[in-house]
Amino acid sequence: TWDSVPLAPPDSIFKLTAAYKEDTFPQKINLGVGAYRDDDNKPWVLPVVKKVTDMLLHDPALEHEYLPITGLPEFTAAAARLMFGADSPALAEGRVTSVQTISGTGANHLGALFLSKFYGWYEGKEVYLSDPTWVNHFAIFRNVGVEPRTYPYYDANTIGLAFSAFIETLQTAPPRSVFLLHACAHNPTGVDPTREQWSQIADVILAKGHYTFFDCAYQGFASGDLEGDAWAVREFVRRNVPMLVCQSFAKNAGLYGERVGALHVVAPSASAATRVKTQLSVLQRSEISNPPAHGARLMALILNNPELFEEWKRDIRTMAGRIIAMRQELHGLLTDKYKTPGNWDHIVNQIGMFSFTGIRAEQSQALTEKAHIYLTTNGRISMAGLNSHNIEYFAESLDKVVRG
Ligand code: PMP
Repeated sequence: TWDSVPLAPPDSIFKLTAAYKEDTFPQKINLGVGAYRDDDNKPWVLPVVKKVTDMLLHDPALEHEYLPITGLPEFTAAAARLMFGADSPALAEGRVTSVQTISGTGANHLGALFLSKFYGWYEGKEVYLSDPTWVNHFAIFRNVGVEPRTYPYYDANTIGLAFSAFIETLQTAPPRSVFLLHACAHNPTGVDPTREQWSQIADVILAKGHYTFFDCAYQGFASGDLEGDAWAVREFVRRNVPMLVCQSFAKNAGLYGERVGALHVVAPSASAATRVKTQLSVLQRSEISNPPAHGARLMALILNNPELFEEWKRDIRTMAGRIIAMRQELHGLLTDKYKTPGNWDHIVNQIGMFSFTGIRAEQSQALTEKAHIYLTTNGRISMAGLNSHNIEYFAESLDKVVRG
C-alpha cells in the first residue's frame, strides 16, 4: 500500500544531535541544541518549576478532567497579561482573544490555520517570512495552504539586519500582506531591529495595511527582562497594528516537553474578539479537542502568584545571565586572547539562544570534522551549548578554522 511513499529526510537538528552522541571524543561540543543547558551542560529544571510541580502533586483537589477547548482560563488570561502588560488597554477593552495551544509550534499552526480560513486575502494566500527564519515556519504555513515567501532580514556582510531591504519589501508587497515577525531574539540569527527600527517597520505596516504575525518564543529568555522583550509586541498593539501573537513557555520556563503556549489575536473590537474566539474554538476542537492540562496548571500557578512570579523572574535572569556572560567571554577570547581576524562584536550585540557567527559553511564543517564541534552549516551556534568548561576549546577551535 505504501510503496509510493518516498523516504523523508531526517530533521537536520536531530541528525546533528545523533552524530554528536555517537562521537567519543572527550572534548566534543554540541552547539546545535535549541534548549538551555547549565554550566555543566545539563538540562536545567527551574527551581520555581520544581516548586509548583510539588504543589500540584500534593494538591488534594487535583483531577484529570478535560480542560475547556480554548484552555485553562487562569492560564490564558495570565499569559495575555504577561505578553501585553497587565495595564494594557487592549486587554481592558476585551479586544484580545487568547487560546491555549500546543506550545509555540501549536500557536503558529493555529494562527496560520485561522488566517488561512478567515483572513481577507487580497490576492493569493501568502505569508512573508524573514530570510532566514526558524525552518519549521515554512512547513507550518504550507500545511494549511499558505505559500511562504521571504523578506530580506539578515545581511551577511554586516552580520546584522538588512534593514533597508526589509523596509523595501514591506513597501512593495501587495497591500494587506501577512508578515511574520520574530518578537525578540530572532531565530536563527540573534539579530533584532532596534526600537527606532521597529517603529519604522510599524509605520510601513500601517501605511500598507499589512497584518503582523508575531512569533514570540523567547520572552524573558532573550534579555532576562520579560517586559523589555515584549516591547515590540506592545508597541504594535499601542499603535493599533492588526496582529496576532504566538507565545511559548518552552524556553523561558524550561517547559519544553509540556507543550504550553498560547495564541493571542488582537482584534479591533470586543465583539470581533468574541467572534474570532468562537472560530478558534471550532478549529481547536477538530485538531486536539482540548489542550494539555499539566503545563498550563504549572504556569497558571507561577503567573498568578506574586511570590512565585518573582522566583520565576530570578530563574529567567539566571538563564539569560549565563548566556550573556558566555557571549562576553567568547567575544573577549576571540578579540583579546586569540586576536582572531575579523570583527566579533556581533557576538555580544546579538541576543537570545542563538548567535550567527558569520563563518562559512566549509568553516562550520571543519569545526565538526577537525574539532568535534557540532553546529548547523549556516554557522549558527547555540550559546547555551557553551560553558566555562568548553568555551576556551571552542574559541581556540574557531580561531583555527577562521585562520584556515
Ligand atoms: N518559534 C520560534 C522562532 C522558535 O525558535 C521555536 C522553538 N525552537 C518555536 C517557535 C516553537 O517552539 P515550541 O513549540 O517548543 O514552543
